[in-house]
Order: sequence, then structure tokens, then C-alpha cells
Amino acid sequence: MEKIVSLCKRRGFVYQSSEIYGGMNGCWDYGPLGVELKRNVRESWWQDMVTCHDDMSVLDGAPEAFEMCGLDCTILMDPQVWKCSGHFDLFHDKMIDCRDSKRRYRHDQVRGRWVEAKGERIFVTVNADLEAEETEARQKALKYFGYRSKDSDKLNWDVEFICLTEVSDHSRVLAPDSKELGTLTEPREFNLMFKTQVGALYDEDSVVFLRPETAQGIFVNFKNVIDSTRVRIPFGIAQVGKSFRNEITPRHFTFRVREFEQMEIEFFCNPASSQEWYRFWRDRRLDWYQRLGLSGERLRLREHDSDELSHYSTGTADIEYAFPFLAEGEFGELEGVAHRGDFDLRSHMDGKLDPKSDPLEVELGEDGKPLWRGSGRDLSYRDPISNERFVPHVIEPSGGVDRATLAFLCEAYTEDEAPDDKGNLRQRVLLSFHPRLAPIKVAVFPLVKKDGMPDRAKAIYRELKQYFNVFYDEKGAVGRRYRRMDEVGTPFCVTIDGDTIKDGSVTIRDRDSMEQRRLSVGEVITTVQKAIRSQGQEGLSCP
Ligand code: ATP
Repeated sequence: MEKIVSLCKRRGFVYQSSEIYGGMNGCWDYGPLGVELKRNVRESWWQDMVTCHDDMSVLDGAPEAFEMCGLDCTILMDPQVWKCSGHFDLFHDKMIDCRDSKRRYRHDQVRGRWVEAKGERIFVTVNADLEAEETEARQKALKYFGYRSKDSDKLNWDVEFICLTEVSDHSRVLAPDSKELGTLTEPREFNLMFKTQVGALYDEDSVVFLRPETAQGIFVNFKNVIDSTRVRIPFGIAQVGKSFRNEITPRHFTFRVREFEQMEIEFFCNPASSQEWYRFWRDRRLDWYQRLGLSGERLRLREHDSDELSHYSTGTADIEYAFPFLAEGEFGELEGVAHRGDFDLRSHMDGKLDPKSDPLEVELGEDGKPLWRGSGRDLSYRDPISNERFVPHVIEPSGGVDRATLAFLCEAYTEDEAPDDKGNLRQRVLLSFHPRLAPIKVAVFPLVKKDGMPDRAKAIYRELKQYFNVFYDEKGAVGRRYRRMDEVGTPFCVTIDGDTIKDGSVTIRDRDSMEQRRLSVGEVITTVQKAIRSQGQEGLSCP
């Protein structure tokens, strides 16, 4: 992971936000290449799910043909939205504070291990990731008991590391950044929504929230979309945009951050066929990641167990990736696909639903009135053919643009060996992105800076620029220029040499196989176009 993070900074993919002021925790900026990569992820999703969606065909595994459209909603919304959605009351993580170090931790993320020595048993917590936690725990315990390294065998450890949530007595806990016992507070609820204010006066009524997900903008516009377009159920609304969560412990590079981008679909369907649609979206979304390059064992689909499901959901699956910062066998969520029933539309219609009741009922306050009132609008749907009226069920594939981008980066990072200009084998670093995701599609090089080659190369660069993002480079040995392009994942390099001046042909070199062929410029364009659409993209990408 360290190699990937360092490459990202060195070559302009990702920088720490506000770095010259020491860096802002949980915030990352995308550099000149990162912004192209992330745009390609986002645009591939939008093309495949929305603009290139064929409303008339029945896709593999789908019960029938369906329509898709898009939305772009505001980040600031009426606070009532978050009261009815449940985020105001329930979007919490538990945090604990350390009275000694003044640090704050997420309760379920602190790990540690019980150890006994000199007749005392304590729970030693650590900051380190899984690979290094054993070493850190040993060093802390040795220091606490006043032992030297050679006395390690005097420490009697419990078999495994466990989560702090399993420890009820904090008085025996050695906090991650303290040398004393019992400095951690009891866990407290912490709402993850960022608060801000609208208008010049700061009071209770001016408080609004930065959206923690894009989905609610879709639900509250459901009626608008139905009334202003000709879409009919089943259909989906897609949205891509920024979301904000005040994560207590942002970590793992861009995996868990406070400001991120989501790509979400709310798919509205008849309750009778909702299970079939759930299975369709779950499989389709997995397939999307596979087609764009996450095809190996590091990607998996995990169905939630029944005790993991929200009370309103009859099925949820996570698409997960084995990120390199996780321990062997561990996976991190890329996207969740959830069957949400009619929970969201009903909440926005009637008011916040009682999370404990089943069947769903509006939650009442102490005065017997609905706790958080809904919009009062009728968000049910009448089928124009059968005349049946129902509140649609919703399937929600909800993915993160930043997490997907990070997974594509991690998967693409490869080290191999290749001969340099003198024929000696040297280590080569490459990002083997799918050509559709690659920030630069083609690099154009004149072989040498003379004999009219730079002028000819610049003309070819301009011609290719009309189709793709192209990079021009005339500095240094050609082998070094290839390597620089391999390292940022450029799938093709085109070299202009003496023969180009004579017959117009160029050498095109493939990033992965390093094979070279001579082609005309017209053939280069079709080769690159074909590669962008390649690898089982049929039926997914724009023709
Ligand atoms: P996690 O359990 O990892 O916190 P979540 O289940 O809360 O994620 P969802 O609410 O389902 O996540 O959000 C949908 C998607 O948004 C996630 O699959 C992920 O890709 C992305 N996402 C959520 N929180 C973050 C975050 N803090 N940083 C980056 N991406 C995020």
C-alpha cells in the first residue's frame, strides 16, 4: 500500500488536502492524473447505467425492460429530509475519548489483547494496523510492567486480539495513546452528519446538514420525475455527487474519508417483482466491476446475514475488495446493494417510521403525535395498464467513486521486469488499468529531437487529441519515456521515427505485453478505440 500511496503522490494522482499547512485529516485532493482516473470511473458508471442504457431491451437476468434517468440534487436540503430518513436520530457511530492523550476513537475500531504479568491483568490497545499490532502491544506491555525486551516471555497473553466493544470494564484498559490505565471514557453516540447554518442568524432554525448520502435527493424528487417525464415503473434514477460524513477515524488513504463522492441508483419497482430486481442489480453491479478489471479473487459479493439486515430490508449484499491495507482474508466494502422495500417513500410520505415496529408504523412522540412529520404528499404510484396502486419498492445499488477508484488503482499496480535501453533486465512498475479508465490513452514520442520528427509527432499528437487524452514527450531516451508512461497506466505509446517521415507509419507499443507494431495513424485511432471498448464490454459501453 505504501508503494501505491507514494506513486500516487509522486505522479500526481492523489495529494493530502491542505498539505502545505500540515494536511487535513480525512481529506484528499486528486491531482492532474487522479482527476482523469476518477472522472473515467464516474463517467463509465454514468454511461453504462444511464446514457447508454437501452430502454427497449431486456438485459440478462432482468424480469423485463426498464428505463433509467439521472438527477443532480443539492447538498443542502430541508432538515426535515434527514429527520424522516432516520439520519437525524440514527446515523451514529460510538466514540470514546482518552482523558490523557485527548484523542478520540471509534469504539468499534479499537483493538487490543488481554495480558497478565506480575499478578495484574490489563487490556492493551493498539493504534497499529493488523500486521503490526502484535509488536506494538508487546512493546506497550513491556513498558507498562517495567520489563526489558528479553523479558517478553514473562507476559502471558490471551490467545487473540479482540475489539474494545467486548470489554465492559474500561478501568483495566491501556488506551492506544496513553501509558496509564483507565483513561478512556464510556462510549458516546456521535452523529456523523456535518452541521452548518443558512442565513445570517445562527439559531436552531438555521441549522442544516451536509448530505451524508445522495440517495435522499432522489426519493424526495420521485414524484417530480414521475410527473415531468414519461418514465413508468420499473425505472431507475441515478445520481453522482459529493457526500459528507464526519467519520471519527478516517483512515486507509481514500477508503474512509470525510468528503467523498457517491454513485447511487434508486430503482423503483412493483413489490411483486422486487426480489427478482434485487438479484438482477446485485449481479449486474458485480459484473460492472469485473468488466472494468477487478476480475480476480480480490473481488467478492457478500450477502448480509439476516441479523445484519436493516429492519426494512429483505436483502442486502456488499460488493467487496481485498484492499492491500487489510489483513489477509479481509475485504472492504466498495458498494452496497440493498432491497429497501417501501421504507424511504413511506417515510417521506407519512413521517419517520418506527424502527422497532413491524409492520411499519409511524413513530409517535410522547404526546402521541408523529415524531417527525413527513411531507404529507402522496408518493404512491398507479400503474397505467393494470390500474393497480402501490408504494413502489426500491432496490438501491450505492457505490463510492473514491473507493472504486482506489480499488482500480490497487488492482492495476504491478511490478515486473523488462529490458532497458541497453538490454539489461530492470524492475518495471506499471498501472495496468483497463484502457477505458486510463487517465492518458496514448503518449506520442518523436524518436529523436531532429530530422523533422518533433514536428511530425506534434501533428500526430494534435490529430489524436481530437479523440483521446494524449500526452506528448520528447525528453530523454525513449525507453525511459515508455517507463514513465507505464507507471501512470498509459495503454499505448506511439513513436515517430525516420520511416514515419517516409511512409507515414508509426510504432505503437502495448503497455502490458510491450509488443510493438507498425500502423498508420488511422489504424492507431481504431486500435485505441477498440481497446477502450474491449474485454467483455459489449452491451455495457457506448458504441
Ligand atoms: P462503511 O460501512 O464502510 O462505513 P457504509 O455501509 O456506511 O460504509 P453506505 O452508507 O452504504 O456505506 O454508502 C455507500 C458507499 O459509499 C459505500 O459502499 C462506500 O463506497 C461509500 N462510502 C461510504 N462512506 C464512505 C467514506 N467515509 N469514505 C469513502 N467512501 C465512503
